[in-house]
Amino acid sequence: MVEPLQPGSTIGIIGGGQLGRMMGIAAKQMGFRIAVLDPTPNSPTAQIADIEIIGKYKDQEAAEQLLEASDVITYEFENIDYEVCQMLENKGHVPQGSELIRITQDRAFEKRAIERSGAQVVSYELVYSLNELKQSTQSIGFPCVLKTRRGGYDGKGQIIIREEADLLEATEILDQGPCILEQFLSFDKELSVIVTRSVNGEVTTFPVAENIHQVHILLQSIVPARVVPVLQEKALELAQQLAESMKMVGTLGVEMFMTEAGELYINEVAPRPHNSGHYTLDGCSTSQFEQHIRAITGWKLASTDNREAVVMMNVLGEHLEETISQIPEVQNAKLHLYGKDGVKPKRKMGHVNFLGKSTKELLNQINELTIWRQ
Ligand code: ADP
Ligand code: MG
Repeated sequence: MVEPLQPGSTIGIIGGGQLGRMMGIAAKQMGFRIAVLDPTPNSPTAQIADIEIIGKYKDQEAAEQLLEASDVITYEFENIDYEVCQMLENKGHVPQGSELIRITQDRAFEKRAIERSGAQVVSYELVYSLNELKQSTQSIGFPCVLKTRRGGYDGKGQIIIREEADLLEATEILDQGPCILEQFLSFDKELSVIVTRSVNGEVTTFPVAENIHQVHILLQSIVPARVVPVLQEKALELAQQLAESMKMVGTLGVEMFMTEAGELYINEVAPRPHNSGHYTLDGCSTSQFEQHIRAITGWKLASTDNREAVVMMNVLGEHLEETISQIPEVQNAKLHLYGKDGVKPKRKMGHVNFLGKSTKELLNQINELTIWRQ
């Protein structure tokens, strides 16, 4: 049994984005202090942190400073430096570990880890050249999607190939490094489950979210998901199995596809709180951020019970102005802004959780607002 870390101790966070900020806010409420490492000054997390360390993720010296300042270290995203993470794990206390980073940084390792847990993934092949890509499209078939194995997010580093003619454009992706070609699944719904496993092996799942993407970026999460209970159960079980088979610690966001026939495929996993779990901030008795902090500090995991209905809407750069003018007038809307100063289209600036009795009523209400109209 790991003894619970005492309030007053310092949690070091690698990465100063919105996920680190929301983890940090939860941790501060519990009485912890926060140190953050990020290359950019005054990052969303630094704004709420006690100690700010500015340095590249590769910078050994900056990492040593974080180590010095922290009783426990966590990361808020997976594209940190693997070697630095290994060093921190050897010298300090990084409960999530570096192995989880190694796996989730590469879509090929990630797929294998998912398969090992017993879950299904769509058919895929690894490709290194245009010739191999041509061959793989024969076995996978059209449409398919080519993704870089490393570094992709929010749909970046991927392209849908619908026919032979699209292969030329695919070279742009191939030039970025080793790739993976996947069957393009015509799914009915995208779902996700946030699963947390503590240093003491306790596991909890948050209710299934139904996710709507717009040009590959999450726009909306709907909870409860409009999916029959047996499939929701199945989705929770798959996420739990994954967490246990990977022996991970902390929080894992598990993205899934559900087909018309009710089959579930795991799309990808993220070893940290996930955008599709932001609904938990107002929709559940514990947030995914608090649960993550509890998991890495050896506190008992708390209840993940949800309120009646919640719809989370992402506020991207193009939604910000209207959000700021309209949302303060809405009684059941909880605004979360991340403190980013550069407003750009498609940049995640914040999110709004709408709370109510039914998702249908909330979706109607959101449609009445003009913020998310295209
Ligand atoms: P990212 O790391 O950018 O989130 P994803 O693999 O999750 O990468 O892809 C982003 C989105 O693109 C998914 O949420 C889904 O809507 C769509 N997508 C990705 N892969 C497939 C696939 N094999 N079949 C159908 N849709 C896909
Ligand atoms: Mg994704």
